[in-house]
Amino acid sequence: MDVLAAFARAQNTPIAIDTFQLDGVRDREVLIEMKAAGLCRSDMSFFDGSRDWSDYPLVLGHEGAGVVLECGPGVTHVQPGDHVIPVGIPECGVCPACRSVKTNLCDQYFKPTSRRPFRLHGNPARAFCELGTFSQRIVVRDIQVTKISPLAPMDIVCCLGCAGATGLGAVLFTARMEAGTSAVVFGLGGIGLNVVEGARIAGASMIIGVDSNPAKEPFARVAGVTHFLDASKPGIDILGSIRELTGGGADYAFECVGQADILRQAVECTRIGWGTTVMLGVLPGAQELALRPRAIQEGRRLMGSYLGNVKTRTELPQLVDMYLDGRLHLDNLISHRIRLDQIGEGFDLLASGAARRVVIDF
Ligand SMILES: [Zn+2]
Ligand SMILES: [Zn+2]
Repeated sequence: MDVLAAFARAQNTPIAIDTFQLDGVRDREVLIEMKAAGLCRSDMSFFDGSRDWSDYPLVLGHEGAGVVLECGPGVTHVQPGDHVIPVGIPECGVCPACRSVKTNLCDQYFKPTSRRPFRLHGNPARAFCELGTFSQRIVVRDIQVTKISPLAPMDIVCCLGCAGATGLGAVLFTARMEAGTSAVVFGLGGIGLNVVEGARIAGASMIIGVDSNPAKEPFARVAGVTHFLDASKPGIDILGSIRELTGGGADYAFECVGQADILRQAVECTRIGWGTTVMLGVLPGAQELALRPRAIQEGRRLMGSYLGNVKTRTELPQLVDMYLDGRLHLDNLISHRIRLDQIGEGFDLLASGAARRVVIDF
């Protein structure tokens, strides 16, 4: 069948839209009609020059929600009509990683697949994360499909597939913050606001938000920030301010920007003995991470986290339910709604810092 999809053609070349041919489902594959999709900076990295990549054309989009239209042989956990979130990290349920409570990084995520359901002018085209949610319809492996409540508004919970899982998961499934502890969040974009939401839900006693754009403060306050530090203020002493507010150092810090110097600052602002930093921002490949060895020797911890360490098929639905229960302010996160043909402007908004999350309504 023919579908309209947005894709990257090359680095430093604007995102484009064209008609792709989409294969039918095969064994253990699911055909999904996309209803909504969120724009993420990782998509942008395939056409803004910031990532080393050569496999073009690449259908973009790895965050979204839709309805199952058809299931191939062997698919058992979803059926036509189910509301679903397609996810970048599979959960096969049987590999050592899926059987461990320590990680969400299913072994299948690292196994290259040769399957290319999309074709452009007859040539197979790859999809980012084997998804391609900026397409009207997608065909994906069943291990990358999460069934969610039919009551959840898809144009809102679509953001849980990447930004929501990453931010909320960093608090609830990676750091496992305890009630009464303090958190510092560096960078209050789509991921950072979800970290703040997670910290509030975890019962944090203090949530300090740090950003160089003071216009983000009101949204951060709605999410749960108790103190805001404007990093753009001349002469501001971020480390000193955090140590003073927390009485010596924060229990937890979350880096959501993707800069080595900010990550260093995040580690240093945590408390001696147990301060824990979770690294969420993606550092450009060429950057090296230099930490002061004593900062770690003094008992601080630095943790990595991919998609918040949320197991995508069994744990992600819990986040959808948090929204339905009214505990999660996802509406605060979405700043712009666009049509698929406005995707170029959508990414311009994201790049300018003027947007929190931009959502495509199909
Ligand atoms: Zn993303
Ligand atoms: Zn697995």
